[in-house]
Amino acid sequence: MKFDPFVLPFTLGLIFLLGYLAVKYTAWFTSLDRNDKSKVMTGFFSLSLIRAVKEVFLESLLHRRIFLRNRLLGFMHMSLAFGWFLLILVGNVEGRVYRPGEINPPYIPIFFRFFYANPEAFPFHRVFSFAMDLLLLLVLSGVILALVKRIYSRAYGMKRTTKLMTGDRFALAALWFIFPLRLLAESFTSAYYGGGDFLTGSAGSLLGNVLPAGELYYPAWWAYSLSLGIFFAALPFSRYMHIPTEVVLIFSRHFGMAETNKRTSFTEIEINSCSRCGICLDACQLSFAGGIRNVQSAYQLKSIRYKSIQPNESLNCLMCGRCASVCPVGIDISSIRMITRNEMNGRPPDASFSLQPVSKTRKSDVIYFAGCMTHQLPSIKKAMQTIFSRAGINYWFMDEHGGICCGRPMMLAGHREQANIMIEKNRQLILESGASILVTSCPICYKVFAKDYNLNIRVMHHSQYLFELAEKKQIILNPLYESAVYHDPCELSRDLRVYNEPRALVGKMAGLIPSAYEKENTLCCGNSLANFFASNDVRLSITRDAYEKLNAGDAQVLVTSCPMCRKAFEKVSGVPVKDIAELVVKSIHKNEQQHVPLQKKKIHTESRPLVMQE
Ligand code: SF4
Ligand code: SF4
Repeated sequence: MKFDPFVLPFTLGLIFLLGYLAVKYTAWFTSLDRNDKSKVMTGFFSLSLIRAVKEVFLESLLHRRIFLRNRLLGFMHMSLAFGWFLLILVGNVEGRVYRPGEINPPYIPIFFRFFYANPEAFPFHRVFSFAMDLLLLLVLSGVILALVKRIYSRAYGMKRTTKLMTGDRFALAALWFIFPLRLLAESFTSAYYGGGDFLTGSAGSLLGNVLPAGELYYPAWWAYSLSLGIFFAALPFSRYMHIPTEVVLIFSRHFGMAETNKRTSFTEIEINSCSRCGICLDACQLSFAGGIRNVQSAYQLKSIRYKSIQPNESLNCLMCGRCASVCPVGIDISSIRMITRNEMNGRPPDASFSLQPVSKTRKSDVIYFAGCMTHQLPSIKKAMQTIFSRAGINYWFMDEHGGICCGRPMMLAGHREQANIMIEKNRQLILESGASILVTSCPICYKVFAKDYNLNIRVMHHSQYLFELAEKKQIILNPLYESAVYHDPCELSRDLRVYNEPRALVGKMAGLIPSAYEKENTLCCGNSLANFFASNDVRLSITRDAYEKLNAGDAQVLVTSCPMCRKAFEKVSGVPVKDIAELVVKSIHKNEQQHVPLQKKKIHTESRPLVMQE
């Protein structure tokens, strides 16, 4: 077996890293509950395994998602990750070809040119020399781009990057030296022994003319090995822990694991998968519109990982989900924030906590739940009451007199246990009604009913429900405006992917102007209930910025599907702002006034007489 003492730093660093990862990942696996353990065990013997391998190739090596968002950044990540992977892979193949029948220790493919300085006696040596030089060049281009990004990130269209921690500095310095030192080591070796190709051969010729290659090649191999050893030893204590952990995350997801309401090993895997790439920083409205630049997801995840959580970081967030939608790793950041809020609160349910009955269940086909915010804008709930009546729906207005909360505000404040008590109470009321559909006017309530209530009935946002009524001709809509801009509320669009029905519905009443900030790229209106720190001034600048970016001033009306968004935009808008239900009722009204005489239909509700407002 070929050996030289200079391989020790690399070998010891590698042994330490593999040992650390084995202990860490085993600990995570053993603390999974039985259900998740069984998902992992069965996942390995299912098609999910192939899908996971494919995603690892596309995302951990090629960095496809980053590439689609920012080509230069994507190329930088790809050249470092994929280039390094190929150097190891081709190095291993080369080792097998040159040493047939021998088991190569891990350092042989890494330091191949030291042990086989002039491989001309071996088959395919030209092919291997060329391929290895090409791959080294690819990785070096990534190192240069990474240096440029650290010095001048604006060249990549990035306004901000994250700061380095001590562990990061060690790992990063070592990482930057690894490949230039490999180039030097191989070039000096080439100058002294011959060999090498277009890169190491040419660099060797140049260097050999001005430097004593015979004296320098051995120290260069030591330096290369040392930089690798330091990088491996520093990796677990740095952001680069994301490299192996992201692979674990991809497999875990494909095996069916996801965030729950409590911190689990999956949460730890997600937290350690953050590369602090900084892509989420520029996406955050608190940063680019509100001037708050120390609470974004990269910082929050770092604080959780290093156990230095600040209330400001956890609570100063709109929970708009923009950061999660751009995160190339796909970390479920909002769920992690919610878990953190709950942990910060840390109190068990108050023993004196009780719920006062404010509503009695009534048998109905449809339940309408307006939501607390809708009660602040009575025109929306009144529009819905009118529509239900006109369509002849047997409905029960569950929170007609207020006093019932869906539970989301308590969750956002970190009172998950109390929220669960409330949810269970509401759930019983809903199920006893015998209704097959629950309709709500608030996207936040919609999200909670859909995700946390475990109801075996259809849960719909009113934009979806009204679209269905219109499609079934239970309501007849008339054109109202030539131009309208539709604003997607965060929960409805990014979270629950309700894009099409509201657009189709608005399209029946107005000419819809597309926006660059719609669907997944929608902007928070600034009125988010989830933020406990932002001042009114910050909120107002977020609203103004969102309004300007929507170019709503170019349209005759700004339409949204959320009472809070409607309220926020009203403060800054130069054009009328309407909830989609208000638009529908106006459209029906116009239709009936122009074409069809109003007919009173029998309605089954205990609601007070309707007063239509616009
Ligand atoms: S949360 Fe995602 S986008 Fe933000 S720094 Fe981490 S990996 Fe990058
Ligand atoms: S959820 Fe929204 S406000 Fe919170 S950090 Fe992400 S982008 Fe910023």
